[in-house]
Amino acid sequence: MECAKDDCNDDATFELHIPWKANEFVCAGHARVASRQEGVVADPLDTADEDLPDGAANQ
Ligand SMILES: [Zn+2]
Repeated sequence: MECAKDDCNDDATFELHIPWKANEFVCAGHARVASRQEGVVADPLDTADEDLPDGAANQ
């Protein structure tokens, strides 16, 4: 699965839970950026093998 962001071909390794729209599957880099927004939670997928974004590290 590819990152949902335009012009990004990285593997999607996080699911973004976004209060104001549908969930998106994105790469670690985009998850890091998106999770800085109020209310957005980046959930690592089983395939995630990179560092978790700040605030999403529960393991
Ligand atoms: Zn991306």
